Amino acid sequence: MTKTCTERDETLVFDDDDIYLAWVNTHPEGYILTSNKSLTPRHTVIHRATCDKIKVLSGNAQPGGFTRQYIKVYARSVADLRSWALKKRSDAEYRECILCAGK
Ligand SMILES: [Zn+2]
Repeated sequence: MTKTCTERDETLVFDDDDIYLAWVNTHPEGYILTSNKSLTPRHTVIHRATCDKIKVLSGNAQPGGFTRQYIKVYARSVADLRSWALKKRSDAEYRECILCAGK
């Protein structure tokens, strides 16, 4: 994690599973962008922080699987995540999770 500040407009980037999971479990009001490290559009998905998809390791994923090859970015709104992604990559695109979007 690059920052520990929790101010309202803060965008947090996680690179450690334990810190990441502790954060999403205590900040259910926010949103999580998940992607690979180069923000490839087809791998970029935004979830609500409450979504199981971003909290439960699936298949044969190993501990650390959330953040070793992927990034997890937290913000209080989808708009904040979008502007973060566009700063990193000008052609950034994302889709919303089919499980949690719109709930
Ligand atoms: Zn989701």
